[in-house]
Amino acid sequence: MLQDHLIGAHVSASGGIANAPLNAQKIGANAFALFTKNQRRWQAAPLCPKQINAFKQHCNDANIAANAILPHDSYLINLGHPDESQLARSREAFLDEMQRCEQIGLSLLNFHPGSHLKQIPIDECLSRISESINLALDKTQGVSAIIENTAGQGSNLGHSFEQLAQIIDKVEDKTRVGVCIDTCHMFAAGYDLTSHDACEASFNEFDNVVGYQYLKAMHLNDSKTPLNSRVDRHHSLGAGYIGKAAFSFIMQLPASRGIPLILETIEPEIWPHEINWLRSQAK
Ligand SMILES: [Zn+2]
Ligand SMILES: [Zn+2]
Repeated sequence: MLQDHLIGAHVSASGGIANAPLNAQKIGANAFALFTKNQRRWQAAPLCPKQINAFKQHCNDANIAANAILPHDSYLINLGHPDESQLARSREAFLDEMQRCEQIGLSLLNFHPGSHLKQIPIDECLSRISESINLALDKTQGVSAIIENTAGQGSNLGHSFEQLAQIIDKVEDKTRVGVCIDTCHMFAAGYDLTSHDACEASFNEFDNVVGYQYLKAMHLNDSKTPLNSRVDRHHSLGAGYIGKAAFSFIMQLPASRGIPLILETIEPEIWPHEINWLRSQAK
């Protein structure tokens, strides 16, 4: 039997994480993404039992299971940092993010792999990212590290499928590592998605280089910048350079079922409409 599509958006957790599932329910989502702490700060107060229970209760009420929830880590973390003390700080913060997920019963943590800041070779940076993942997986249970592909802006790595595969290759526990494909980033990094045939070629390339067995989530965003721009600017579905064909293609892709499909598009007012439209494209 085919699994259901799990579709939602990156919703606000302002006022506490327990509000995120409520916000997801309001837009007709059966999946969601959230930050479990302020994404622009290093430190955060630990989650208290009251918040944790309310979060679990609201997810339960909304009928949203852990596999449909995709927390995103802080933007400050760089798991491939060239500087040892900065790297240690990032690894500590990443472990804290993993532990927060563990505490609230979540199974995925989405993060951007890291940047070499033009100070170390690409291979060295990718190895550091793998080792950072190993360290965090070692100290936690039940949470998988979900690497997001990037647009390749600046010195951000993880823009090519080869780089994602290289990171995964050095992760010891392959059962707890996966990939979140962001369509805007994929397109900005040079993978054409502007027609059904282009999507087929680009996604086949993903399958050949990384493999669908590692696809654990997707971010569905159109792009304000053209193919291979290496600039990360999201747009509403169909409003950017990618166009609607890609999102129809994805809704018909067997690999998109049973994993969180998250909108990070720029008009939250139309999220209910975008979610309905995506559902209408499934066959
Ligand atoms: Zn994204
Ligand atoms: Zn982005």
